[in-house]
Amino acid sequence: MMQHPINQCDREPIQYPGKIQPHGALLVVNRHNLLVEQVSPTIHQYLNISAAEVLGKPIHELLSPYQYHPDFEQGAYQLIQTAKGETYLVSHYTADYLLLEFEPFLGYTYNEEAIMSKMLHYLNQSDSVSVSFKEAVKNVKEITGFHRVMVYMFHEDGHGEVIEELADPGLEPFLGLHYPDSDIPKQARELYKKNLVRLIANVAAPDSILERIPGSENNPPIDLSDSILRSVSPVHIQYLQNMGVAASFSISILSQGELWGLIACHHYQPKQLDYRQRLHAKMIGQMLSTTVRFQAEEEKQQVLGFWRDNTSNLIRQMRQSDSILTGLTHGNLDLLSINSASGAAILYEDQLTLVGHTPPPSFVRELAVFLQKASTKQVFQTNHLASVYPEAARYADSASGILCAPLSADLNDTILWFKPELEQEIKWAGNPDKAVILNEQGETRIEPRSSFAIFIQSLRGRSEKWSTAELTNAYKLREEILLLIQEKINQLRRLNEELKKAYEELDSFSYTISHDLKTPLATIYNFAELLLEEDPAIDNRLLTQKILRNASRMQQMIKEVFNYTKLGREPIKLQPIDMQSLLFQIREDMLDAYKDTKPDLQIGNTPAVYGDSTMIGQVFSNLVSNAVKYSSKKEKPTVQITGEMIDDSVVYSIVDNGIGMDPRHTDNLFHLFYRLPDAKTFEGTGLGLAIVKRIIDKHQGKLWFETERNKGTRFYIKLKKTESA
Ligand code: ADP
Repeated sequence: MMQHPINQCDREPIQYPGKIQPHGALLVVNRHNLLVEQVSPTIHQYLNISAAEVLGKPIHELLSPYQYHPDFEQGAYQLIQTAKGETYLVSHYTADYLLLEFEPFLGYTYNEEAIMSKMLHYLNQSDSVSVSFKEAVKNVKEITGFHRVMVYMFHEDGHGEVIEELADPGLEPFLGLHYPDSDIPKQARELYKKNLVRLIANVAAPDSILERIPGSENNPPIDLSDSILRSVSPVHIQYLQNMGVAASFSISILSQGELWGLIACHHYQPKQLDYRQRLHAKMIGQMLSTTVRFQAEEEKQQVLGFWRDNTSNLIRQMRQSDSILTGLTHGNLDLLSINSASGAAILYEDQLTLVGHTPPPSFVRELAVFLQKASTKQVFQTNHLASVYPEAARYADSASGILCAPLSADLNDTILWFKPELEQEIKWAGNPDKAVILNEQGETRIEPRSSFAIFIQSLRGRSEKWSTAELTNAYKLREEILLLIQEKINQLRRLNEELKKAYEELDSFSYTISHDLKTPLATIYNFAELLLEEDPAIDNRLLTQKILRNASRMQQMIKEVFNYTKLGREPIKLQPIDMQSLLFQIREDMLDAYKDTKPDLQIGNTPAVYGDSTMIGQVFSNLVSNAVKYSSKKEKPTVQITGEMIDDSVVYSIVDNGIGMDPRHTDNLFHLFYRLPDAKTFEGTGLGLAIVKRIIDKHQGKLWFETERNKGTRFYIKLKKTESA
């Protein structure tokens, strides 16, 4: 075990080690004066002078014997001849320093162009990421010659899994093994994002500790995160040693700025890779990054698009259906079409409907009560129901995961989706619970793991997780259902109000009808009795005529009552109406009916209105015939009809010079059978204006009047000009 276990490995300052791996040399040069401030003792192998002699020297003076290029570009290398032979000189800048690293040139025998083109070929050809992984490990193995090359993928919770592997014969396979997240702490993962390749050439070689200009020993340590030779954290060294690894090399795979995984290489003897080999391996990693990103996106988009479309279609299906329940459960699509659930339940108005693979109804009802009590007002999800509701353990095969969309706060109405238990066995390389150790103070201490013995963990009662897309769709569907429920409530309320009104109307209607029909009926009755008496003093012919007149009045009233009631039921067919021909027709009819009085019927502007042509015809014929009728006893009866467009509406006025109305008697003008006392000498039933009012209301228009007794009356009608208005 280690001498100095490190508390909270996540906080170990691994980018400030003050030392490097010994297979190269590092010069830390002040960017401002270009003097060397720190150096590794290994510099001696390259420059043939000791570290002490190098410190404080101008960099150009030190390098002058070695045909170097004086511009040190960020991240670039140059090949120079040093005491150690052909050497890579690699430069990196930090805020205040220039890091110059020396590494031996090793050369290689593979054909990098062939490898790259092969890799690209596979990436372009194959639809599946796993083929790309296979090709990548093969090529990286060829480039590096390491004993084992793996693709190591990070899961959402940070733990890793070996998903592809190419290892030399005789090596125990790691494929399929899982590693706890503490094996690669967070800050190490951050560095993998920064340095896309990382070599540990010899786990056992002692580090080369940087020497500093005398007097600067207490200066803060220098950030070596860009250094390729940066020494390795002791915890990680120990970890690799416990695994039996002598050299390790990793290449980062990034997806959308995050560390998706690594191509991890192990060697069981020390092994160096030179700059170009690392560069080639890095290129493979970058190609893989692109593929991983594109393929993941594409696969995601496909599923997401499919579910999203289904959600919209399911909503449409529900809206077109006569009940929410039928719409969601009977049709081409159902609740299972919008996510990957294997069962669903809808509890609505106390009726429970199950779809697919679900627990029994009694349990679903209990669960709904539990969830409602737990006051989950919003969409709620878990992939381990038994952890919040232990009774669910019995139904793990159908309900390990649930997604719940409550439909009302006070009722149990809800939609539930179920996912079954995932038969999951995780093979850990060592017990993950032992990866983090608590010390006597209760602090977490991460010690390098000493055991990698395979530990099989079986996960019970857990389902596959609910994805964001699944949650989004549940939200969307829930919103739409709530909207529809609200609409239905409003509709019911409106219907209820209409019904109430209709009921009240019916009440007064039956009263007036019986009252008004009684008068002619009583007359008929009386005259008929008189007829029976066969009294010679009475003119039977006259009696019969009176009976007939009253009967026809009754008939007229019944006809109009029928018309009036029919209006309430009939749907209106809205369309633009040609008012000119409608009014001219009415005028003709009027002139026929009033041949003797010869009223002057003037028609002005006739803008079209938007309405039901039969009903609007009835409106005008009632108003015009009233105007003609109630002015017919004037010396020169005159009626003017004209229309005017005002904004989106049309206002028609019908003006007469007739008897007018006494304003004290006009309050009930639009009531059924209502007639003013002045009208008694005119034929009429008192139904015309009630019909007009009802039609205008149905059109959501307006009806009003101005009148003066003995002078005349003006009726106004306001209607829509077009559909949208
Ligand atoms: P009626 O069959 O009696 O004409 P209406 O419902 O058409 O029934 O009209 C109701 C009452 O309104 C009429 O009886 C009359 O008193 C009054 N009225 C309607 N139109 C006019 C008008 N143009 N001039 C004077 N009074 C009118």
